Amino acid sequence: MTEKDPTEHRSEVEEELHGLKTIVNVAQVVVSSLDLDEVLDNILVSAMAVLEMPAGSIALCDDAGASLTMKLAHGLSPAFTSRSTWQIRPGGLTARILDRGEVFAIEDTERSEVFSNPLALAEGIRSLVAVPLRVQEKVIGILYVDDFVPRRFSGVQLETMAILGSFASMSLDNARLHARTLELACTDGLTGAFNHRHFKKSLVDELGRARRYDLSFALIMFDIDDFKAFNDRYGHPVGDRVLVAVADILRDTLRDCDQIFRYGGEEFIALLPETGIEQALAAAERCRERIADEAADAAIDAGQDRITVSVGVAVFPRDAETFDGLLKVVDDLMYLAKRRGKNKVHHLS
Ligand code: GH3
Ligand code: MG
Ligand code: MG
Repeated sequence: MTEKDPTEHRSEVEEELHGLKTIVNVAQVVVSSLDLDEVLDNILVSAMAVLEMPAGSIALCDDAGASLTMKLAHGLSPAFTSRSTWQIRPGGLTARILDRGEVFAIEDTERSEVFSNPLALAEGIRSLVAVPLRVQEKVIGILYVDDFVPRRFSGVQLETMAILGSFASMSLDNARLHARTLELACTDGLTGAFNHRHFKKSLVDELGRARRYDLSFALIMFDIDDFKAFNDRYGHPVGDRVLVAVADILRDTLRDCDQIFRYGGEEFIALLPETGIEQALAAAERCRERIADEAADAAIDAGQDRITVSVGVAVFPRDAETFDGLLKVVDDLMYLAKRRGKNKVHHLS
């Protein structure tokens, strides 16, 4: 593998210098960009340039390590890249690359016993370098560089690939951490619903969108009835389980595009984009009913005791046109539902 390619005119020193320059350039992009796609693209293109190969891709493992999904590719046909997810076959080449965890090169796929991927053969791939991407001993993906003719690879080239691969791994790890931090900053730890702070941002965004595109949207406020008494009877930990159950029911009942927020201790707000009053009332009523039927039992065998909610529904622009206006309407309606006996949904008629 360290044998020199007779067609290669660069001296080893030149090659090393070329590799180092690439590494420095890529490192600058890695530290200066928060955009993962940009960073990975830069790494892939640089890897192709170092090896002077016309094609390449980066594929990422799923959490269980059972499949790979193509994240980006260059120089490959749509027929090849459209098969974007493939299973990792035990004993297959991918599994071997992942298990060994080291840079793996095939200089001629037609002479290789381990290479049998029919799609890659049909694509005409004759040589490749595969760099496993690892984060703390866990392989998270593979960086591939491909050519359509047989090739020889030098030790320096493969070492450079290993370094570029470690840049890709670091960038992926950073991006994952960054995404997790953002998620923690806007969610409530107990229920997984978005938190109060995120609600303000979401409502401002939704108001802007609805005004720009002349759309309606709905806010639904839920406040658990007599929750203090429930806590007193069953204890705070059981009360916490009720809060989780209520959030789960809201998530399960509402659409994927609807957002659920823990607005206060035992208050939730749902934001339903592109929703009019009829739809909002139907959704609110379904949530109210399911909470009354399921929430207490999901948390504890509560016997005759039930958990119910009082609910206010407001629709933009029907009931109010401002941030404060909408909140005042849902809040007033929720309290009206309390005064009228609780376990009810109220709206402006
Ligand atoms: P109402 O029907 O008027 O809403 O009565 P309520 O008892 O629900 O209302 P109140 O505002 O008097 O009390 C709210 C209760 O919610 C008091 C508090 O113990 C409980 N609560 C708030 N946050 C949490 C929490 O995180 N966990 C638990 N278990 N209980 C909470
Ligand atoms: Mg309350
Ligand atoms: Mg309450």
